[in-house]
Amino acid sequence: MQYCFDDADQVKAGLHDLTLPAGRYGRYSNPTWLEVEGRLSELSGADDSLLFASGMAAHFTTFVALLRTGDEVVLPAESYRQVRNLFHHVLPKFGVIVHEISIRDPEAFLEGIAALAGRLRLVHLEMPSSPHMYLIDVARVREIVGPGVVLTLDSSFSPPPNFYALRWGVDLALFSATKYLGGHGDIVSGVVSGRRDLIEQIRWYRDTTGPVADGNAAFLLRRSLYTLALRMQRVNAQGMEVARYLDGHPAVRRVYYTGLDSHPHFKLGQDYLAGHGGVVTFELGLSEAATARIVDRLKVPFMASNFGAPHTLVEQSTFFTYFEYDDEALKSIGVDRSTIRLALGYANETAEVISDLARALG
Ligand code: PLP
Repeated sequence: MQYCFDDADQVKAGLHDLTLPAGRYGRYSNPTWLEVEGRLSELSGADDSLLFASGMAAHFTTFVALLRTGDEVVLPAESYRQVRNLFHHVLPKFGVIVHEISIRDPEAFLEGIAALAGRLRLVHLEMPSSPHMYLIDVARVREIVGPGVVLTLDSSFSPPPNFYALRWGVDLALFSATKYLGGHGDIVSGVVSGRRDLIEQIRWYRDTTGPVADGNAAFLLRRSLYTLALRMQRVNAQGMEVARYLDGHPAVRRVYYTGLDSHPHFKLGQDYLAGHGGVVTFELGLSEAATARIVDRLKVPFMASNFGAPHTLVEQSTFFTYFEYDDEALKSIGVDRSTIRLALGYANETAEVISDLARALG
């Protein structure tokens, strides 16, 4: 692809008026991004979408674009670790005031937002959250904050067709496309989809600061989107089967899977989710070291802190994602040291995963 124009009229259309979609410059309008962004907008029912180099690039650029000094924002305490870092260690440098509220008790979360309602510029949500798959009553958040507050939601664990964030009053859905959207564990990419006026603000920051997607990753993402619904169907079925198995296992103290009625947010799951995904979290009630020995015995899952790949992955949460957290920090987000997170894929291997778990737990 050459980034060039045929004549002055095209320069005016492509560069000055932005009425020609491509041709400006590689950082602004790669034709493969334009294609995949169109498909992502269709998928989420968005006005428009932007592709980024990673999920974190999508988050960072969105919040830097939309927030300014003195703005107050809410962040769930159970958000992805690096998103928490962004809110606690980066945005405050620009004078953004961050209120962190736990979503473990959905009513307490809503009360916390109600107490701040008149002061907020933006509420960021993430659901389901990792590792416990907690959910949020999104429609009630919108009701409480009213139309003037920007609502963003990280939907990486629950992309369409499992959940359509924009149908529930969310302005912008964010995705780590590294996960289910990419779906093969072989690209790093991020997406924001939603309201056109907000997307245009974010686009200016992406154009200016350059956290853009690699063209080949965009091509692979475009191809992956054809199979998203099929993959999610299989992922949902495998997740449910393994969650049920673990729920009945005597060595397992507790399973967190929104498709099981034992999940504390099961009812919200019935309201919001059409499928419950492949991530199944469980606690053994053992020490971290004893839990690590059991995880080491597993032979089928790859040991990796990811999800949305073809094959099953496993991580011991306090050893992977939260390895830097001390006891007090773990307590604040409710993560036990015997927590194991399995991420079922769509390869046909549920039977192998279950017999592997049976052997390791036995
Ligand atoms: N949001 C969630 C929920 C995630 O799990 C991750 C990555 O693990 C991200 C955002 C960041 O995405 P990326 O790794 O594509 O930058």
